Amino acid sequence: MLEFFPIPAFTDNYIWALWDDSGHCLIVDPGDATPVEQFLEQRNLTPSAILITHHHPDHIGGINRLKQRWSLPVYGPARENIPGQTHPLTEGDTLSLEAPAVEFKVIDTPGHTLGHIAFFAAKLPEPILFCGDTLFSGGCGRLFEGTPAQMLASLDRLSSLPDNTRVCCTHEYTESNLAFARTILPNDPEILRRQQQVASLREQNQPSLPTQLSEEKCSNLFLRSDDPALASALAALNGEELNDRLAVFTALRGRKDRA
Ligand code: ZN
Ligand code: FE
Repeated sequence: MLEFFPIPAFTDNYIWALWDDSGHCLIVDPGDATPVEQFLEQRNLTPSAILITHHHPDHIGGINRLKQRWSLPVYGPARENIPGQTHPLTEGDTLSLEAPAVEFKVIDTPGHTLGHIAFFAAKLPEPILFCGDTLFSGGCGRLFEGTPAQMLASLDRLSSLPDNTRVCCTHEYTESNLAFARTILPNDPEILRRQQQVASLREQNQPSLPTQLSEEKCSNLFLRSDDPALASALAALNGEELNDRLAVFTALRGRKDRA
């Protein structure tokens, strides 16, 4: 059986761990080694590999120390410079690991950074996606390097995955994303419902993640750029016509950047 868990790091990051019964554990985006080492000790797990989605320090800062201690393979984006990376991956590659026994498909997801990749495993008990800073619950990553068109295409790729996919995002931004969404669509029932659900999780000190892809398709405005209600709300707020879903997405991302 496989289990997974978001290890909290810094103020709002999660470093995902995925392990099997024999105690072999994958670590995704270890921005900091300390919370990872503590987690592995507590659960009596041995790391077997590191997966990296993109080059930002809060996702790679712990690689060196973990590698020094365990000499781990590091799988990451071929188009970015990741110190310590041993296995560069790109669109269409398959990553087959033995312990834990998981097969990931690599999906290019440019936008937040240009070389950003996501890891999708179809055949766990339920499909699972490690998507770094591309898709968040209720939001999406900032466009530090890519264009709105690139990010929209990346999100389209992710939203075509199975509805029951567990989406493992790397930041606890859900409450602030939903609060922003309500400034655009104050009475949207899906956003209100998800906001209540997340509030009760957070009150109990639980992560709002993983989220499910079907949930994000309902309550995440960044996956709803073809929603006419969203288009007309943004057009009214911005005082401009928005003629297609890219214009809607661009206006939404722009407002979030200024929020
Ligand atoms: Zn980032
Ligand atoms: Fe990040």
